[in-house]
Amino acid sequence: MSCLFCGIVAGDIPATVVQETERTIAFRDLNPAAPTHVLVIPRDHHANVADLAEVDPAYAGEVLAAAAAVARQEGLTGGYRLVANTGDDAGQTVHHLHIHVLGGRSMSWPPG
Ligand code: 5GP
Ligand code: ZN
Repeated sequence: MSCLFCGIVAGDIPATVVQETERTIAFRDLNPAAPTHVLVIPRDHHANVADLAEVDPAYAGEVLAAAAAVARQEGLTGGYRLVANTGDDAGQTVHHLHIHVLGGRSMSWPPG
């Protein structure tokens, strides 16, 4: 199976890594949608957050905690948005779970 984000975990594809834990890695989005736009992923391949929450809820919690730690490290004291696009209707393009950490500007709701 060829997976872009598994390639980043393996170091085969370059990325600007901002934070790492034993089981997660966080790197800047190539095409940022906000002044701060970081993707937080589990090192192990899971297609989406629902799959991981089902097979290993503690690991899903670690990914969420890592996202919060990234927001802290990035200084997003005014707030931020976590997004986990899941499936085609949500526009998920990379089928390796990633939490978008978006911040640094005000954001409208609901999203488009
Ligand atoms: P999705 O639409 O699946 O939720 O988000 C995928 C995200 O991955 C997009 O925001 C896109 O800009 C980002 N992305 C796609 N390819 C790469 C890449 O090679 N490196 C990095 N750092 N981000 C990527
Ligand atoms: Zn993968």
